Amino acid sequence: MFRRILIANRGEIALRIIRACREMDIQTVAVYSEADRHAHYLDLADERICIGGGPAAESYLNIPRIISAAEIADVDAVHPGYGFLAESSHFAEICESCNIAFIGPSAAILAAMGDKVEARKIAQRCKVPVVPGSDGAVENESQAQEVARKIGYPVMIKAAAGGGGRGMRTAHNDISLVKSFIAARSEAEATFKSPILYIEKYVEQPRHVEIQVLADRFGNALHLGERDCTIQRRHQKLIEESPSPALNKSIRRELADAAVRLCKEVEYVGVGTVEFLVDPARNYYFIEMNTRIQVEHPVSELVTGMDLIKEQLLTTCGERLRMRQKEIRFEGCAIECRINAEDPGFGFKPSPGLIDGFVLPGGPGVRVDTHAYSGYRISSFYDSLVAKLLVHRGTRREAIATMRRALGEFVVGGIKTNIPLHEQIFGHTKFLRGDFDTGFIENVMALA
Ligand code: ADP
Repeated sequence: MFRRILIANRGEIALRIIRACREMDIQTVAVYSEADRHAHYLDLADERICIGGGPAAESYLNIPRIISAAEIADVDAVHPGYGFLAESSHFAEICESCNIAFIGPSAAILAAMGDKVEARKIAQRCKVPVVPGSDGAVENESQAQEVARKIGYPVMIKAAAGGGGRGMRTAHNDISLVKSFIAARSEAEATFKSPILYIEKYVEQPRHVEIQVLADRFGNALHLGERDCTIQRRHQKLIEESPSPALNKSIRRELADAAVRLCKEVEYVGVGTVEFLVDPARNYYFIEMNTRIQVEHPVSELVTGMDLIKEQLLTTCGERLRMRQKEIRFEGCAIECRINAEDPGFGFKPSPGLIDGFVLPGGPGVRVDTHAYSGYRISSFYDSLVAKLLVHRGTRREAIATMRRALGEFVVGGIKTNIPLHEQIFGHTKFLRGDFDTGFIENVMALA
């Protein structure tokens, strides 16, 4: 097992990794930016190293500084968490060349899956259905029109290197397609440093359902069930639950089989997520694979009773999977609410600032993953996640009741959060019935 690892991340996921390592007797080295200097979770690491200024480019995205810290601290591995460098094949390669293990799949897999055009090809090779769309990258506006006319409007223009819900545009006709294509290209270039675009049919009223996978170096791969992440704002997840209220037994099995097939095809190692859209007729389509631990991983931890960070550390270190598929038990229903510092009534505008009162919910069936506390300052440099509030109960109905109770107990003073929005969602009959699609926040709650 790893002796000492550096965590190239911050906030709740850094804390989550420190906790798993502490239980496994792995020493941790936390890196931090000047903006995070006073964060309490840093005290729980065995060592702390400041790597630069608040802007991510100066710290959490700064490869030379992270590698220098790793060498000074004499670690044998780096955990990238999620976001920042977690899916950078370049970073993974540099780690390997410095003899530092990258806690994730190989650089080659990161590169293949990080290119969504390539990922679609791999999925097709494994007979996993993809959203109808362009065969590969789309070079220019006229080629885009050709593809769109063939598959039929509406379509989505997506950046091959896209992520985080950005770099996506919908077009309903030839005219809006040209405009969107040009805008998408410059956005992709600016945000992802790659102008490569592709086109997919816009799937109407879809649900986002993803399969958690876990694989070892010996060709074994398991699935840990699905998470339904349909409740989103601006293509970013807000609520995740397992099991999905929208699946029946046969489609659940098909999705899981498809995800495991994909994993085996690319010889995946560690934890990963295969994402699908499911339409109202229950056709399903692969959209992408995330080659890292995800924000919403605790949902699967609650229903399976497994610790995904520990499993990730074990498998990426070279251990064999300790269980077989039929030994994985799925119990009850788990739901996660992302508690963000943002104002849903104001276009989800981030609301950074000082938290001047913080009361966590608790009691039966409740888990909160957070690095925040009263006196903690939410920085404007990073994402607005304050806490992940999770519940786990025998049934969806009970889980919803527990979530409503827990949301009511949660006090975050001094900043605006989306807790009131979550309370509204958990009181909405359509949500209670499990009857919603990815447009729920925009169309039903009338927020965008
Ligand atoms: P990212 O990597 O930026 O998260 P994804 O490809 O995973 O992008 O898509 C994020 C979300 O965007 C999906 O959950 C879904 O809501 C929406 N989306 C993506 N592709 C399509 C599509 N072809 N049709 C309809 N919605 C889509």
